[in-house]
Amino acid sequence: MEMYIPSEYEVIRDDKKCNVCRVCERQCANAVHSYDAKLGKMLADSAKCVNCHRCVCLCPTHALKIVKSDDIYKADANWTAQTINEVYKQANSGGVLLSSMGNPQPLPVFWDKILVNASQVTNPPIDPLREPMETQLYLGKRRTKAERDVNGRLKDTLAPQLRLNMPILFSAMSYGSISYNAHESLARAAEELGIYYNTGEGGLHKDFYKYGKNTIVQVASGRFGVFKEYLESAAAIEIKMGQGAKPGIGGHLPGAKITEDVSLTRMIPRGVDAISPAPHHDIYSIEDLRQLVYSLKEATEYKKPILVKIAAVHNVAAIASGIARSGADIIAIDGCRGGTGAAPTRIRDNVGIPIELALAEVDQRLREEGIRDEVSLIAGGSVRSSSDVVKAIALGADACYIGTAALLALGCHLCRSCHQGNCNWGIATQKPELVKRLDPDVGAQRLVNLLTAWNHEIQEMMGGMGINSIEALRGNRLMLRGVGLTDTELKILGIKYAGESL
Ligand code: SF4
Ligand code: SF4
Repeated sequence: MEMYIPSEYEVIRDDKKCNVCRVCERQCANAVHSYDAKLGKMLADSAKCVNCHRCVCLCPTHALKIVKSDDIYKADANWTAQTINEVYKQANSGGVLLSSMGNPQPLPVFWDKILVNASQVTNPPIDPLREPMETQLYLGKRRTKAERDVNGRLKDTLAPQLRLNMPILFSAMSYGSISYNAHESLARAAEELGIYYNTGEGGLHKDFYKYGKNTIVQVASGRFGVFKEYLESAAAIEIKMGQGAKPGIGGHLPGAKITEDVSLTRMIPRGVDAISPAPHHDIYSIEDLRQLVYSLKEATEYKKPILVKIAAVHNVAAIASGIARSGADIIAIDGCRGGTGAAPTRIRDNVGIPIELALAEVDQRLREEGIRDEVSLIAGGSVRSSSDVVKAIALGADACYIGTAALLALGCHLCRSCHQGNCNWGIATQKPELVKRLDPDVGAQRLVNLLTAWNHEIQEMMGGMGINSIEALRGNRLMLRGVGLTDTELKILGIKYAGESL
């Protein structure tokens, strides 16, 4: 017998406002709304609602709202309604619980416990409207000493670098997990902004090769869609060793999202779940990783910087130290609140560590070992605003990956049901009737708007600190102070408590 599981949300319709235009019925891919001809009114099956707000936003008379259902169990702080429902679901199905987007648990958000400095009397602030303010930067190895050949000419042994107009990149989101139109929006925005977007492990659709100089292609454990032209088409190659939302396991693309086009791009069968292995089967040590780094460099004639992406886990500093010695040019660290198109709920909600702590630890360790300039660091995993970017850079990052914020700009309402493939906003879906809801012209413009605004705010915050370049902010922890943090947290973050002088 299947246990009845109460609806999580309730669809409330104000019948006085509803003019039975049936927009909600057409807009909801979850078939929540229907018209009852006998009653002459709209009805709702709340059990199917994922609270994506599409109908609420598009209802012309604002007759709809979605509320948390009050069909709940006896109050119990330990056995919450969600916990009980999850047990019922697993007892019904015998399956692993799947989720999407980032960890929603009430873990501390350290960004919100860090405050940024501002100049007052001495070392005055800089006005970014009137004075130059440099947010352009390069990612990759830095020259630590000048070497000359026998003729006195500078030996240029540096790997190529990535040039960014601002310290932000779009993080890996595969074609398959997100739609063609979402990918096109990201690619076009990256090109216009002078930054990069990332294919994730989904391969590169042939239509997007033209954005190659703003593209980072990924090589993940499944090696989906990886071949010579794919590697050569991009500005850089990222080896994905781990991901913040699901450390220690492989990727998962539900079969329902593997359409003909996605299967061709990924070079995998259509309609069958694509589960990439947890490890790369040729990497069991830093030496093995080094081999892959150099194989990829070799395959692309040493013209592309190589990134290695890892999940933020307990031993992250030692792991990063090894990666820095593997020949990689850039390390991307993904914190435990990072998003995903699909992950087992238990992994997403319980594995990994926050990016703030991981980043501070890694930067400190690389500095202590004198190898900080061997690699650049990209921090990701719930970077939500320009102030998170500023704090990340002051904690030691060179730049930040953003994923969820970019999807929000495209219209995502964080309903966290991407894995079901019915995204009503045309983002995390492959259904043509839903994909066309996202206009790439509008999507690209909204992404450009978002990051243009963030870049202005970054300049204002830097100016306030009396700093006029990203380079001068990088690792400048004196610009940060903590509030509501323990001594251990302050020590790991390497910052002082608010009120403590220099
Ligand atoms: S799933 Fe979205 S569109 Fe459908 S009823 Fe719920 S909020 Fe509205
Ligand atoms: S991308 Fe779509 S399905 Fe995923 S959380 Fe956002 S609105 Fe929901």
